[in-house]
Amino acid sequence: MSLISDNLQAVLADIQLVALDSGRSPEQVRLLAVSKTFGADAILDAASCGQMAFGENYLQEALEKIDFIQQHSPDLKLEWHFIGPIQSNKTKPIAENFSWVHSVDREKIAQRLSEQRPADLTALNICLQVNISGEVSKSGVLPQDALSLALKIAQLPRLKLRGLMAVPEATEDEQQQRLAFRHLKQLKDEICKHGIVLDTLSMGMSSDLHAAIAEGSTMVRIGTAIFGRRNYAK
Ligand SMILES: *Cc1c(COP(=O)(O)O)cnc(C)c1O
Repeated sequence: MSLISDNLQAVLADIQLVALDSGRSPEQVRLLAVSKTFGADAILDAASCGQMAFGENYLQEALEKIDFIQQHSPDLKLEWHFIGPIQSNKTKPIAENFSWVHSVDREKIAQRLSEQRPADLTALNICLQVNISGEVSKSGVLPQDALSLALKIAQLPRLKLRGLMAVPEATEDEQQQRLAFRHLKQLKDEICKHGIVLDTLSMGMSSDLHAAIAEGSTMVRIGTAIFGRRNYAK
């Protein structure tokens, strides 16, 4: 048993406990393992424990790992989620290599992803990133602009709009954490009233997954609690 395997078991147990505590079924909460800054070896370790969905923030780093794993384990079918900031000149490799993109916050990016999604792949799953705490420096569409963006993206042929994603302002106060997630859930419900079917709330990271699950998260994005602390200096 490796450390990653132990950590994965602990996170899955945690998800199950909090879901049941919140009157939800644990199957309603998917675990996305966020592997940024960690190598293909760590991903393969997690995959050997049955974890198949991985989130990456940095395109070049992600492409190298995807390529390496395809070369070395061609039969392993991992599901790649792009969760980082997107430059408009980098949309093509994202459209070609990922199953999900959680960080779409403007129409131009969505249009390009739709145009560049290869015809032999299924539609690209999309979450709109919402700047739910209204922080000046944060990426994400402002809550008041999310509906109009969702209506536009829902029209794009090669995308499948699945839901909303947010990274709320960091706080250790669980009530504050819950409030931000509740706002994201309310925004999703509001958008659904306009005839758009959304089934995903991508919310919750290592330090706030309890609050996120209690407020209705359907996908938690967990890095540190699975792989350990990130070393950006390497
Ligand atoms: C890094 C990152 C995560 C994982 O964060 P941890 O605190 O390490 O669990 C989740 N979501 C996004 C968008 C990230 O950039």
